[in-house]
Amino acid sequence: MGYGKETLLKATQILESRRSKAQRIQLARHMEITEKIPEIATYEAKLAETGLAVVKAFGMGKDAQAYIEKLASINAELQNIIRQTLKANGYPENYLETPYHCPKCEDTGFCSGYICDCRTELLKTIAKTDLASVSQSANCTFENFNIDYYPLPADESTGVSAKKRMNEILEYCKNYAEDFLKLYQEGFLNMPWNKLFRKELAGRFDTSLSLGEDLLFNIDYLGRCRHAAVISDALIHYIQEEKGNTLSTKKRDDKLEIATKVCNGVQNYYEKLTGSQRMHPVIAGKFVMEFFDDCERLDKAHELRTRLEKCVQS
Ligand SMILES: [Zn+2]
Repeated sequence: MGYGKETLLKATQILESRRSKAQRIQLARHMEITEKIPEIATYEAKLAETGLAVVKAFGMGKDAQAYIEKLASINAELQNIIRQTLKANGYPENYLETPYHCPKCEDTGFCSGYICDCRTELLKTIAKTDLASVSQSANCTFENFNIDYYPLPADESTGVSAKKRMNEILEYCKNYAEDFLKLYQEGFLNMPWNKLFRKELAGRFDTSLSLGEDLLFNIDYLGRCRHAAVISDALIHYIQEEKGNTLSTKKRDDKLEIATKVCNGVQNYYEKLTGSQRMHPVIAGKFVMEFFDDCERLDKAHELRTRLEKCVQS
């Protein structure tokens, strides 16, 4: 999809601002840490030395590879010591890493010369917001939909009352949105194995996730199809091992980040259905439950604060 100059410029400005914000945070954290834990500065100085020592490899001939490997191992060891020191002092291990909005492209919008997914998403959001400001589609919700504009008397040729027909359509749409929330709340949208899909409409699973990707796939699919039906018969039996320790059942560090992504995906779809930009309590409630679930294993308030910051930023 092509975008106008203004949209491209806005995306570049947002990316630049994300990048400089992340770098400012990193700088502030670095100052905080080197003041509170001075030994970190010593390890960092040693790290810088290994970087400079690489230059000596030129001219070493066949000995260069072994020399570089040795430096790499010293470098990895020092980085590990820094992480462990932070942890021992009550900080997250990655506290000194720059908290980029998109670690993949470090908020440049490009990865190895290709456009990063974050830039594509940003362009879509900007184009959508600009379009909404012109068309005011964001102001069209179920609440302010007025069927009084349609005449009640039946049309002479078709015998259909436009007002009655529009009322039926409106009710159908409201019910569809309610049904969607019910299915989501009960967890019926979480998995793909109890559904039949039309291959030509199916999108792709987000392979960067190992949790929530099925739900996002299903919601994306719902956005592509015109009809969906739910049947009560059990056609497939899914047997779950009680002691299962799969990626989706064990505790994970990125659970909250994934929950944020899933929550945004569900809310975006709900917005498309209803026009309402307020997050529905059902969707917010699910996220809060995920949040509390994730908090249970956090024993350090500091880690909790950093994770909250990250979620608010995204
Ligand atoms: Zn990116």
